[in-house]
Amino acid sequence: MGEGVVSTCRFCDGGCRVVGEAGDDGRLRVAPASPEFPAICPKAAAVDEYRLHPDRLTVPLRRVGERGAGEWERVSWDEALDEIAAKLRAVIDEHGPEALAVAEMPLNIGFGGVTRRLMNALGAVNYTAPTQLCMGNTAQVHRAVYGWFASPDWARADCIVYFGQDRDMQRWPAEYLQLKAALARGATLIEVDPRLTDTARLADYHLRVRYGTDAALALAWINVIIEEGLYDAGFVAAWCVGFDELRERVAAWTPERAAEVCGVDAELIRQTARVYANAACAVIPWGVVADMQVNSTSLLQAQCILRAICGYLNDGENVSGPALGGVVNAQLAAFEMLAPEQRAKQLGQDGPRAHPLLTMCAAALYRDATARAGIPYEPDILGESQACDPSALFAAMRGEGPYPVRAFFAVGNNTVMSYAGQQGIVDAIRAQDLVVVFENWLTPTAQLADYVLPGDMWAERDVLGPEFDVAPVLTASYALREPAGECRGWYEVAKGLADRLGVGDALPWADARELFDWRLAPIGKTFDDLRDGRPVLAEAPARGCFLTPSGKVELASSALATLGHDPLPSYVEPCDPAAAAEPGRYPYVAFAGLRERASYNTNFHQMPTFRAQAPEPLLLINPADAAAEGVADGAWCVVESAYGRVELVARLDDAQPAGSVRVPHGWWKPELPGGLVGGLSAACLHNDGMLMPDAEWNLDPVQGVPGLRGTVRVAVRPR
Ligand code: SF4
Repeated sequence: MGEGVVSTCRFCDGGCRVVGEAGDDGRLRVAPASPEFPAICPKAAAVDEYRLHPDRLTVPLRRVGERGAGEWERVSWDEALDEIAAKLRAVIDEHGPEALAVAEMPLNIGFGGVTRRLMNALGAVNYTAPTQLCMGNTAQVHRAVYGWFASPDWARADCIVYFGQDRDMQRWPAEYLQLKAALARGATLIEVDPRLTDTARLADYHLRVRYGTDAALALAWINVIIEEGLYDAGFVAAWCVGFDELRERVAAWTPERAAEVCGVDAELIRQTARVYANAACAVIPWGVVADMQVNSTSLLQAQCILRAICGYLNDGENVSGPALGGVVNAQLAAFEMLAPEQRAKQLGQDGPRAHPLLTMCAAALYRDATARAGIPYEPDILGESQACDPSALFAAMRGEGPYPVRAFFAVGNNTVMSYAGQQGIVDAIRAQDLVVVFENWLTPTAQLADYVLPGDMWAERDVLGPEFDVAPVLTASYALREPAGECRGWYEVAKGLADRLGVGDALPWADARELFDWRLAPIGKTFDDLRDGRPVLAEAPARGCFLTPSGKVELASSALATLGHDPLPSYVEPCDPAAAAEPGRYPYVAFAGLRERASYNTNFHQMPTFRAQAPEPLLLINPADAAAEGVADGAWCVVESAYGRVELVARLDDAQPAGSVRVPHGWWKPELPGGLVGGLSAACLHNDGMLMPDAEWNLDPVQGVPGLRGTVRVAVRPR
């Protein structure tokens, strides 16, 4: 099974296309699907090391003893699903369907839309995914400005602006190859990054801004482009609204003012603005740095405005729009099943923890635009147009919300470690009546579950992707091997629950293949027709049809104004109030970024080959700062914010700007004892979420994304 078959690696979000091969030892190997475009990294070669790992979950487990005690018994699938359905029904009957919350990562389960369809059939609205702080929130700002997500035309790009991206053959290799090709044909690279990264070394211009000040730089670029008349006046006049308000807003953002805020030279700001505006085809590819700041909305909005006023929209950065024809994830989700009174209950739309841009009340603002384009379903771009707010959700799970949330499902999502405010999430999960986790591993989140259900992994499943709606393209991936042990695919589990909960009609397909054929029927295809590995296109709305409320590019966003927020981008200086109250106690600004090559988010620490490359969680610190704190290279140290502490191994690093430290994301040690006594396999000792609170001052006010890069301040000392 599987040799020569096309699949998609999902060990990370790179989504590299691979073909299965049989190794000499009978083990599964994979190779790039296109030998002429070898976008694949060493993690993919570890497919069988992962799939056949002795610690992988391969049977359903039921908790015995106290929650979090780390004691389990094996249970059959039927017993597990019967009991879960009965307990969930009891929660819904007592508290309503809004008392069910789901945190999911569609890439980890190979499905978008299925979980939402089940939830919508039940009337449940509280859904979140990690895309809330990673690309999904970017998509919602793009939507507010020009209606859908803009993707760069790499084949034509002659100027690339990176906000903190550090690409190589282990971190988005496909984009890295495109970057290298663009640079080889003479493209200009502008890198905005406080660190001197390998990618920054390739750059023609490197702006080493102070952490968290990117939005101020972008405002100054807009200022220069408008003041020097470098914008595309024809495009602005024909397609944009809000230009006069924008001009007025950025007038104060001179390069000199931005230079003071960002700590870079004013002339460099002017020069790079001119380079961007005067390019034939400049692109600002997506990067996660912009998603994890308290100024995230403003930074992303400023990036969108730069694309628009310089005339690059649909001429360098393509705004494709949601698909027409072929059933995409949002159409499968069937949001029309939800009654208005249930929608109104979604957490985060209003009240003290309101961050509305990613919620259903924002999605409703685009209804007329969607109807004008003839789209017969409610779009859910990257799973975040219809999401609840995580900080509001976790508060409600702790009993601090407008109503109780009492059942929590984590579906391919290590929730405990994926957001800010880790201890608050642990408390939220512990307060539930029912916790169910669908996973490959006994993760820190799974360690708090009542039932742990063993999920398949990417090489063991068929997928009609992509799992998120970004562009109107459908791709097929085919299973290379049968699922290990008793592992199951998510559709089978979701259908098993739907049948038991009395909403089986919502998931009528016998299996995933039948579902895929149903999704492809409108374009006259079956799942097997896609075996050549080539994507098929669903129809896209006409170019130039911007799906905003006005039908134009909204430089001043009516959606943001309707939601009660500033329609224009701005900059607010990040501030950690506890650190500000005690000057000198927390001397370093913390940056939770620079993802490691040997792991991906919270995964891969259990893989011997990769763990050997990165055995311990590293604090990167400038040598002068390390000397000042008495911290030696390779020594354990304590890193403490006003909200929590972690222990990390110091790595002296000249590339790390003085006055800042980098703390790693996603660190736990699967080999250590689990459960609450073991600190969830050391997740409570090492993970960045212990340092970063989800307090309002550390959240972007519009989207609720946490400031993980440049807000929280820490102290460092030897352990
Ligand atoms: S970059 Fe590596 S781990 Fe990520 S999808 Fe591609 S091959 Fe897989």
